[in-house]
Amino acid sequence: MCMVGDVPEFNMENIEMDLKEYICLDCENKFKGLGKSVICPACKSSNIEMVSAEK
Ligand SMILES: [Zn+2]
Repeated sequence: MCMVGDVPEFNMENIEMDLKEYICLDCENKFKGLGKSVICPACKSSNIEMVSAEK
């Protein structure tokens, strides 16, 4: 039950750091993406722009 072992690649903190907010310029859908080749999940467009995460 208490198996909190090694999790080599799925480190929650790293995932959150890489998670950026994008907006699709084609359908204006806002979504969170990760990595270099992000596409819009709604229309599959790669015509997207990163939204600056200032709060
Ligand atoms: Zn879209």
